[in-house]
Amino acid sequence: MPMKRRVDKSRDTPRVTPRAVELFEQYLVARAQCSCKGGQRFECPACRRRLELDEQIGLECKTPIWQYPCIENPRATNPYERWHANYDWWEERPLAPRELWLALEEALEERQRKAAAEQVPEPSLPIN
Ligand SMILES: [Zn+2]
Repeated sequence: MPMKRRVDKSRDTPRVTPRAVELFEQYLVARAQCSCKGGQRFECPACRRRLELDEQIGLECKTPIWQYPCIENPRATNPYERWHANYDWWEERPLAPRELWLALEEALEERQRKAAAEQVPEPSLPIN
């Protein structure tokens, strides 16, 4: 009789911890502070901070070592033209970093809702 292979569901679910949500919040702040000039990418201090936070979030959420970046904005649009060699790569890149972003975003919103319900003022951050 063939053995049934059990798929461990927890393997696919990112581990979102309160610490990860804090790091994600800092990540959004750093992203908003980007001062890269035209033609530059990830070169300003805020971007370097953001890359560090990405790594820390990966460690906190125990993302697989090959997952890079650890989180990725699911609303980002393909930066490459259709003829560009990277266009298809971008379209077909793994979903996991975007799924983790959404999970963190949801947890952050949940925390903000709770904070609001408890009348604790908390600055809201632009998510997009
Ligand atoms: Zn920057």
